[in-house]
Amino acid sequence: MTITSFIPPRRTLMGPGPSDVSERVLQAMARPTLGHLDPAFIGMMNEVKALLQYAFQTKNELTFAVSAPGSAGMECCFANLVEPGDKVIVCQNGVFGGRMQENVERCGGVAVMVQDDWGTAVDPHKLESALVANPDAVLVAFVHAETSTGAQSDAKTLVELAHKHGCLTIVDTVTSLTGTPLLVDDWNIDAIYSGSQKCLSAPPGLSPVSFNERAAEKIRQRTTKVQSWFLDLNLVMGYWGGEGKRAYHHTAPVNCLYGLHESLVIVQEEGLENSWARHQRNHLSLRAGLEEMGVGFLVPEEDRLPQLNTVTIPEGVDDALVRSRLLNEFDLEIGAGLGALAGKVWRIGLMGHASNQKNVDFCLNSLRAVL
Ligand SMILES: *Cc1c(COP(=O)(O)O)cnc(C)c1O
Repeated sequence: MTITSFIPPRRTLMGPGPSDVSERVLQAMARPTLGHLDPAFIGMMNEVKALLQYAFQTKNELTFAVSAPGSAGMECCFANLVEPGDKVIVCQNGVFGGRMQENVERCGGVAVMVQDDWGTAVDPHKLESALVANPDAVLVAFVHAETSTGAQSDAKTLVELAHKHGCLTIVDTVTSLTGTPLLVDDWNIDAIYSGSQKCLSAPPGLSPVSFNERAAEKIRQRTTKVQSWFLDLNLVMGYWGGEGKRAYHHTAPVNCLYGLHESLVIVQEEGLENSWARHQRNHLSLRAGLEEMGVGFLVPEEDRLPQLNTVTIPEGVDDALVRSRLLNEFDLEIGAGLGALAGKVWRIGLMGHASNQKNVDFCLNSLRAVL
């Protein structure tokens, strides 16, 4: 058998990510590959940094994209900030909080878990009790937008509580960045990570991160080496950290960064506030259509993520069959339930480039036909 070029089918991606990538971003990625220390490329990396500072609403110097998907941004935050023996309070209200626990323990830290029901926001009162009960905790970690359930937590309040008790914060904003309001400096978030393939609508493979001065200071004060060579910020910053002299650390995914750059230019052109408003508008439109079909939401209204709509599968409906018919007959991808919610919910993404009225109508019509 002769294997020939791979031509992917044209799908509409309305799951939990990756989201649809625009022609502009795809074309940017098809441009000629440069050497990763070429002055022209380094100039572009500096622009990526400035554009990420805008998207995160931060002036943090330590802002860049880890050369790997969101999970690596997560590891980067934990590997650098957690030292063996550190006590870390992890708020869990879905799948990704569980991964935070894994990260803490693999870094030699002690995770204190604060559990909330899946589909609800993190309860600030429970965090406060845990902070009082664990005065020796040094970090608080939580997920701003839980993609496994579609619930959004009040990051500003949770960070305030952590700081009141002398803890630094690690916040997962893989799904929230540019989809819902996120103000890194105003909210005083210490360490944050995101992903390229959710509301930024670039292909997967890059993880924007940002660290404020307090987080950078904790990393400088470490008495043990960061256990991951690849993610050690002291080394990575020699590569990303401006001022002309750039030391070779690893080869940046050059064309992938062209894509992220273009997606961030698109965010800047639209404006963050307009992007947040568009995600909300299309969510309300989808919601109206779903409710007309008798399909309800998992998450209470005030905590719902507009970019990730988790709906309960109607009684007697075959989950896998519906999703495979949507894919095969309509080229439409929606997400299945994760973990404890497998088989119980669908996750309909309206992320970034894919958050538009045309997709809302297409999804509603396709679902109606299949159901
Ligand atoms: C998608 C996601 C991740 C993981 O990102 P990958 O790019 O798949 O590694 C982490 N946290 C949340 C909340 C996510 O939605």
